[in-house]
Amino acid sequence: MPVFESTAFDDHERVVFCHDRASALRAIIAIHSTALGPAAGGCRMWAYANDDLAIVDALRLAKGMSYKNAMAELPFGGGKAVIIGDPMRDKTQALLEAFGTHIDKLGGDYVTAEDVGMSVADMETVSTRTRYVSGRSQHSGAAGGDPSPKTAYGVFLGIRAAVSFRLGSDDLSGVRIAVQGLGNVGRHLCRHLHEAGAKLLVADIHADRTAQVCEQFDATAVDVNDILFQDVDVVAPCALGGIFDSKSIARLRASVIAGGANNQLATDEDGERLREREILYAPDYVINAGGIINVAYEYFGKGDNETVKSRIEQIGPRLTAIFAKAREQHRSTNAVANELAKEKISAGAD
Ligand code: NAD
Repeated sequence: MPVFESTAFDDHERVVFCHDRASALRAIIAIHSTALGPAAGGCRMWAYANDDLAIVDALRLAKGMSYKNAMAELPFGGGKAVIIGDPMRDKTQALLEAFGTHIDKLGGDYVTAEDVGMSVADMETVSTRTRYVSGRSQHSGAAGGDPSPKTAYGVFLGIRAAVSFRLGSDDLSGVRIAVQGLGNVGRHLCRHLHEAGAKLLVADIHADRTAQVCEQFDATAVDVNDILFQDVDVVAPCALGGIFDSKSIARLRASVIAGGANNQLATDEDGERLREREILYAPDYVINAGGIINVAYEYFGKGDNETVKSRIEQIGPRLTAIFAKAREQHRSTNAVANELAKEKISAGAD
């Protein structure tokens, strides 16, 4: 695929194709912007059907990280890595070491951490080859460790802010919420929502994960093909991106979309489609910033869990301000958030 002509290309500073024959590593590191600091964003390992899909994913995710880091007011630019392969089958120590070596060659312009298919243990392995890695084991109250519970906490607070804005009360008891994807973020989110009294409908392509969440959090299992289209108040996407397009939006029955998945909208116009249907959309890169906030405090070696928590607690008010501005200006929430993020990045580039 010609990268520069891809619709996902957005003036990315650098796109690096990494290969290591011995470990069969094939990875792409996309650096969207370093205007505000080193380009930070997790590494995703996924069995992409072809290289083009991997390139587009890396480009889109890296841009999303620039916006996410800018909106969370972190001293980070945006980047992302994807490793092509099935994490259950193809992930080896040698592959992670080779990936770490490639990151190190970028001299700190890209900082990695976990994303889909990656764990704290994997980041420890990567760290044997480079110091430009975060999301490592946590030590006694210091910021660090698996970012997913932090992401889930921020998403939970974001759902509360969205429900309050759209439905007029931030009390989640009895509020019906459909959660798509019950991995690291989804299942922690379900715990918070259950504790707040929400009524959960859940789905994951791994039936064992669905069964476990149903048992732990009194949730109801729904077919994976139907989870987005339930008669609920909130849909919380916590799987993969690109799920909201003209077809799926026409079938939605929820009045709020607020979840942890990256790149939920297939295109920016889909944000406008949601607005036209009066569905309040919490821009993904604003609501799911909890993990990268944790990563940033760990990476820069300052701050403890309490500081991270208070930074994450700014996500709700930040979303409320975006919702209010969007309503006032009759614009989609993602258009308002994109504009704010771009302004912050341009200010940093000056
Ligand atoms: P994960 O791999 O732990 O979980 C994803 C889950 O989604 C898996 O259980 C998978 O089986 C399920 N899934 C995939 N396709 C599905 C489908 N069509 N229907 C239902 N379930 C499906 O990943 P994660 O770390 O929980 O991340 C989830 C999403 O949140 C991703 O989009 C990720 O980029 C985003 N995100 C994660 C973090 C974090 O801290 N982990 C931070 C920001 C954003």
